[in-house]
Amino acid sequence: MKGNLLKQMLIAFILAIIVGLLLGPQAEYVQPLGDLFIRLIKFIMIPLIFSTLVVGVASTGNINVLGKLGGKTILYFLCTTLFAVTIGIVIALIISPGTGVSMNVGETTVDPNETEGILATLLAIIPTNPIGSLVEGNILQIIFFAIFVGIGITIVGEKAVQVKQFFDGFAEVMYAITNLVIKVAPIGIFGLIAPVVGTNGASVLLPLIKVLIAMALACLIHVIITYSLAVSKLGKMNPIEFFKGISPAALVAFSTSSSSGTLPVTIKNVEENLKVPKRVSSFVLPLGATINMDGTAIYHGVAVLFIAQVYGFDLTIIQYLTVVFTAVLASIGSAGVPGAGMIILTMVLASVNLPLEGIALIAGIDRILDMFRTSTNVIGDASAAVILSKSDRLENERLRETA
Ligand code: ASP
Repeated sequence: MKGNLLKQMLIAFILAIIVGLLLGPQAEYVQPLGDLFIRLIKFIMIPLIFSTLVVGVASTGNINVLGKLGGKTILYFLCTTLFAVTIGIVIALIISPGTGVSMNVGETTVDPNETEGILATLLAIIPTNPIGSLVEGNILQIIFFAIFVGIGITIVGEKAVQVKQFFDGFAEVMYAITNLVIKVAPIGIFGLIAPVVGTNGASVLLPLIKVLIAMALACLIHVIITYSLAVSKLGKMNPIEFFKGISPAALVAFSTSSSSGTLPVTIKNVEENLKVPKRVSSFVLPLGATINMDGTAIYHGVAVLFIAQVYGFDLTIIQYLTVVFTAVLASIGSAGVPGAGMIILTMVLASVNLPLEGIALIAGIDRILDMFRTSTNVIGDASAAVILSKSDRLENERLRETA
């Protein structure tokens, strides 16, 4: 990614804050610019995810290599998510955002029936009609389908060469379209940020300022400590270089609140700036954008503690552990779209018998919390790609030596 695009994005971001503050709710008028960008990234999302993932899986060329890569990826996702929720809980205990807060609990905007059980969520990953999944844009099912098409191509080998070539070419076409779409990112960022700043004036933010601080701080700690350590120790990359390389995607994630929507930019940054090979990035990133949600896990930790504090509930050690466990699963189950983490928060609240209405307390600032969690989610996916690419390189060297 060219340096001046990042500059343009930063300028658009700052300009949006100024315009939002000056215009207040009137800033809504620039929303169509944001909608334009969101529609463009949604337009490339499904074919991009599908084709890159098929290519990513097929290019491992060997089922054992694929199994190893998959296993390590999932292990890294789980470990970092576990850290994330723990950091969220600890920060919420220290800052204690809900203590002494008395708020009117309005109607909850979330229907608890919208969250399904864990087993049902897992089963629903298997598409009964994969073409239908593509048409409906069901990302988890699309990933499942793409992984198996990739595995099929690997097993068939010679006879499937043309199928592989087709997906290779198609993925290249999608990359080319992605490059065009990313050019309008600065306009999109402006159109998305200005209305958020304009409509969330000080009166909305002040009572909840501690929650915002807790969330921002926990995300920052996780990003700076966990990812720096992981990237430098496991990925052998300078963390500054890492953060610089992924910053355009983090900014797009912050503006769009959708890690799936940001995926095209994440893929581009990770490949071009962080030099992760396509075969790793096209496997790790689409998967990560859907199931690796560290920011969402942090949010679950902070939100549950905030709601418990407002209602005056003291959680037991077992309940803390339950929150950690369910938050890891809930973050996996959250889709990479705006607001998904808030809907699935009901699952975590229910696990420790906290009132679901508590969500109404923070629903008003969810868009802002979502910005922090989505950027964290995307940076986490990129860190996984860096680490897995290092391990993939070592594995290749080992195979070459033993051959
Ligand atoms: N918006 C987040 C994402 O796309 C998910 C969430 O709501 O927590 O990564």
